[in-house]
Amino acid sequence: MTIQPQQFASDNYAGICPEAWEAMAAANSASAPAYGDDEWTERAADAFRTLFDTHCEVFFAFNGTAANSLALAALCQSYHSVICSSSSHVETDECGAPEFFSNGSKLLVAQSADGKLTPEAIRALATSRSDIHFPKPRVVTITQPTETGLVYAIDEIRAIAATCRELGLKLHMDGARFAHACATLGCEPADVTWRAGVDVLCFGGTKNGMAAGEAIVFFDTSLATDFDYRCKQAGQLASKMRFLAAPWIGLFESGAWLRNAEHANRCATRLAAAIDGLPKVSLAFPVQSNAVFIQAPESMLDKLRAKGWRFYTFIGGSARFMFAWDARAEVVALLAQHLAELAALEAEPENAI
Ligand SMILES: *Cc1c(COP(=O)(O)O)cnc(C)c1O
Repeated sequence: MTIQPQQFASDNYAGICPEAWEAMAAANSASAPAYGDDEWTERAADAFRTLFDTHCEVFFAFNGTAANSLALAALCQSYHSVICSSSSHVETDECGAPEFFSNGSKLLVAQSADGKLTPEAIRALATSRSDIHFPKPRVVTITQPTETGLVYAIDEIRAIAATCRELGLKLHMDGARFAHACATLGCEPADVTWRAGVDVLCFGGTKNGMAAGEAIVFFDTSLATDFDYRCKQAGQLASKMRFLAAPWIGLFESGAWLRNAEHANRCATRLAAAIDGLPKVSLAFPVQSNAVFIQAPESMLDKLRAKGWRFYTFIGGSARFMFAWDARAEVVALLAQHLAELAALEAEPENAI
């Protein structure tokens, strides 16, 4: 079988970007105190405060599942519930970790065709029951950008936050691709988070060019009480913490966090433009970040696989392509070319019989 020079099945197929790598090397120059009592961890936390232009409490975890689960657990008692979208990572891709780490807080799932939550959907779930038998709604979690690649506008987040405040709910943001949303919106990170009413953000480093790592950022610092113990108990306190922290310094101080995301978004836009108007091919969702979801006949997707392309179809059956900091323009063009060739083949009359 043909092997394609680069795959876009996921943005975590990419390696470590040079800025993150160099920051790791810099942190590797001497010994340093363990468990986060080192200068790199302090500098990284300060870099978050600078980027978000506010005082916030910052913690570093190994991955997004841990970050989301522990953040939600910090906002909930075991009898509480968390409102999320039906396609949210916490619901579909974390193996029950949010329920596990919160000792049983239930996820309340809003059916959503495009992955977004709305004030109406939140209100409907949060007010559906108020009796003692139902898990008490306590938190709303939104994914920015969504698992379908859509970006919440600042006004949409403000509206969700207003509904949350009215109903006594905390607002958590799963920002596994937060940088990509900032790149799309062209806004300050603060504008789409604490200034819009977000209480806690999980900021993804892995899909932004790091080897591993996700930061949990508490804008409401009162919610961070004892969070360090929660991380330790869950096996998320890195003893050589500086290597989880330092890459953030590299990404933020160089501006690579935004450049990487802009590049990835641009690749998605380019692929979407290149396949626009192809017969039998359409986009399942508008392209607003680094993901392209392609709807095409199953026979065509099979041929695309046979050409050596890897992709997932777990969201609604469409072929998902995701771009990272390292996506190469000529490989994106090659994918577009193959899609065009297969679409033409598919559209030939003899194939329709
Ligand atoms: C990738 C991703 C995560 C984090 O996943 P891990 O594999 O646990 O690091 C969280 N949320 C979303 C929406 C993601 O795409």
